[in-house]
Amino acid sequence: MTSARTRMRMVERLRAQGIRDEKVLAVMAEMPRHIFVDEALASRAYEDIALPLGFGQTISSPHTVARMTELARNGRPLGKVLEIGTGCGYQTAVLSRIARQVYSMERLAALIRKARRNLREAGVTNVHLRHGDGHAGMPEVAPFDAVILTAAAPRAPEALLEQLDVGGRMVLPIARNGAQHLFLVERTAGGVVERRMDPVVFVPLLPGVG
Ligand code: SAH
Repeated sequence: MTSARTRMRMVERLRAQGIRDEKVLAVMAEMPRHIFVDEALASRAYEDIALPLGFGQTISSPHTVARMTELARNGRPLGKVLEIGTGCGYQTAVLSRIARQVYSMERLAALIRKARRNLREAGVTNVHLRHGDGHAGMPEVAPFDAVILTAAAPRAPEALLEQLDVGGRMVLPIARNGAQHLFLVERTAGGVVERRMDPVVFVPLLPGVG
């Protein structure tokens, strides 16, 4: 149930669901997702469902992780990437195989500890975790080639847009008028261009730390 064959089946499903980026598919075929979910749920780690993470939070489904990574990557190599909402660290781990360095912020200290354990077990080393409110980002590390938020905001946080490099992409769930959609925000020399993508369901981006 936690074997390479189960992961291959997951990847075939992702392909059938329209994920096209071969690099993303290859990384997800390798990364042991069961390490990141609680032991009691490990048998469901490769199903295409969001799973409870504890603390009222949820682990994004494989399809959501694949889609957000594909949109952020846009077929090009990534240097520095910022993730807001580390959670269990699975999206972080997938990004770590696609970007040179991954910076990830999480507002709940207990989840930072959990993610750190998971990432160590998965052998991930090029990731920097920070306990803090992701609204502020990491200005001292910016600019980033890509920024991914895994919690829904009413709009792209201003400080994070400023930390996006020109030509960079932000992928985030935006909650508007009672509905949530994935948005792709591209920073160009002339400003930002926003595109609405798939309908999604995420927990809200909250202020402060816990
Ligand atoms: N991508 C992760 C987590 C998804 S849940 C996974 O798949 O496991 C969203 C996460 O965002 C939660 O862990 C929540 O605590 C965190 N979060 C919410 N608001 C935040 C904020 N302002 N700054 C940093 N993290 C935040």
